[in-house]
Amino acid sequence: MYKEDDFIQLSAIQHYFFCKRQCALIHIEQLWVENKYTLEGEFFHEKADEQRASSHGNDTKIERGLLIRSLEYGLSGKADVVEFHKNSLGIWIPFPVEYKLGKPKKKRCDEVQLCAQVFCLEEMLGAKIQSGALYYGKTRHRHDIAFDAELRDLTAKTIYELHEFLEAGATPAADYEKGKCDNCSFLEICLPKAIKNRVSTYMKELP
Ligand code: SF4
Repeated sequence: MYKEDDFIQLSAIQHYFFCKRQCALIHIEQLWVENKYTLEGEFFHEKADEQRASSHGNDTKIERGLLIRSLEYGLSGKADVVEFHKNSLGIWIPFPVEYKLGKPKKKRCDEVQLCAQVFCLEEMLGAKIQSGALYYGKTRHRHDIAFDAELRDLTAKTIYELHEFLEAGATPAADYEKGKCDNCSFLEICLPKAIKNRVSTYMKELP
């Protein structure tokens, strides 16, 4: 069981998948930089919140911005949306939905982040959650996600690695990657090209 001081934010999972250096800058060095992508993401969530406000019926209740945490996994954060679906026995079953601005990614980071929310919700509500969904703004499509053993194992492993990474407290060196770095809000302070160029120049100058 983790103490609250050792909790990591759910958002760190996304940052860790995207770039370990970015994750360290945000969660170890406590830095944050906005760019058009981060602002678009915030705007998308605000708009989606307004739309979701009128989208529930008798058999579905919707909770937005639910504060969640897990003592077992040492996690805390906010769930975008948790729908509660009433089953045939009249029991309300939680169904988390995470809203993403872009489109589905090759890596399973969004599924892992959603599954980490499930770990929190299961611990808090004492319920077993079989499925949830990811909604992508770019494709305007909602994908159902099954929280099977494989996804749960991957999520638990990622959370464990992330705790180790953050506890170590070491920010990795920048490593420029076209596309990824060009869209990163930290580009101006991270200077991955400059560091890469310095290393390659030094290597060339070696006897
Ligand atoms: S600029 Fe590149 S290396 Fe630096 S934090 Fe962003 S993604 Fe990572």
